[in-house]
Amino acid sequence: MSDDHRRLRVAFLGLGRMGTPMARHVLTAGHDLTVWNRSPGKAEPLAAAGASVAGTPAEAAADRDVVVLMLAAPDAVERVLFGPDGVASGAAPGTLVVDGSTIGPDASRRMAERLRGQHLRYVDAPVYGSVGPATEGTLGVLAGGADDDVAAARPLLELWGDPKQVRHVGPTGAGSAAKLVRNLTLGLALAGIGDALRLAATLELPGDVVDELIAAGPLGAAFPGVRQILAAGPPETANFTVDMLTKDLRLCLAAEPRLPLVDAARAVGEAAHADGHGQDDTRALPLWMRDAQR
Ligand code: NAP
Repeated sequence: MSDDHRRLRVAFLGLGRMGTPMARHVLTAGHDLTVWNRSPGKAEPLAAAGASVAGTPAEAAADRDVVVLMLAAPDAVERVLFGPDGVASGAAPGTLVVDGSTIGPDASRRMAERLRGQHLRYVDAPVYGSVGPATEGTLGVLAGGADDDVAAARPLLELWGDPKQVRHVGPTGAGSAAKLVRNLTLGLALAGIGDALRLAATLELPGDVVDELIAAGPLGAAFPGVRQILAAGPPETANFTVDMLTKDLRLCLAAEPRLPLVDAARAVGEAAHADGHGQDDTRALPLWMRDAQR
C-alpha cells in the first residue's frame, strides 16, 4: 500500500451507469484515481474531475494498490483481467482486485483462483441498489473473500455503501452468491406484478382498482416502486436494464437449474429482449408483460 495508508492508489475499470458514480466517490474521498473504460469517451467526466485515464487495463493496474472492476458480465471481467493488455499482465504482486460486477459465485471463484496463481488478491463485492444509491453512496455491498482482503477493500466499499450495509458474507464467491439471491427476488417480484397486470387486463378490471390491489398487496411490498410505475408509466432513462436482470436470472439458473419460477422470469426477460426492450429499465418489464402480444 502507499505510504499514506488513508490515500490509496486506485484503478477503476468500467465506467457505466454504476461505475461512473462509484468511481467519483473514490476521487472525492481523496484517493489517487486512474480510470479505464472500453469506450474511452465515458472517462472524460472523471478526467475533468482529476482522474488519470489509462489506455489499457494493464496500464491502469500498474502501480495501484487496488483495482476495482464494475463490468457488465463474467465474459467482460475475464477479458479485462486476463485478455491482451489485461489487469493480470500489468498489476504488481499483492495488488487487490475488488470486483463489483454481478458475475455469480462460479466466475468469482474462477477469477480469484487465476489471480492467485499470479500472486494477485481478489474480493467479490457486488452491490445492490441502483444509480441513485450509487450516486448517494448508499448501496448495499456483499463481500466475499479472505478476512484481510475484505478489510483492505473496506475503505472503498464504505464509500459506496452505508457501513451497516457493507457485509462480509463469507469466503470468495459468497458475496456473488448473495447478490444472486437478492436479484432473484427482484426478478420474481417484477414478473409476478406483470402476470397480475396481465390477468387484470384480460379480465377487464378497472385500472384504479387493480393498481391499488397490487401496490397495497404482497408484491407491492416486495417492490415498493410499483405504485409509481403504475401511476406514471416506465421511466425514460434506464438505470438497471432488462438485459442485466435477465443475465442475473441466467446466473441463478447456472447455479441451480431447478428454479421453475426463475426460469419463467428468465424467459420473460429474453422475450422482452427479442421484442426490442432489452435496454429498457426493469421497471418497464411488468407493463411490457401486460401489453405484450395482446
Ligand atoms: P452498464 O452501464 O451497461 O456498464 C457496463 C460496463 O461494462 C461498461 O463500462 C462497459 O463498457 C463494460 N463492458 C461491457 N462489456 C465489456 C467487455 N467485453 N469488455 C470490457 N468492458 C465491457 O452496466 P451497469 O448498469 O453499470 O452494471 C455494471 C454491473 O453492475 C453489472 O454486473 C450489473 O449487473 C451490476 N449492477 C447494476 C446495477 C444497476 O442498477 N445498473 C445495480 C447493481 C449492480 P462500455 O462503456 O464500453 O460499453
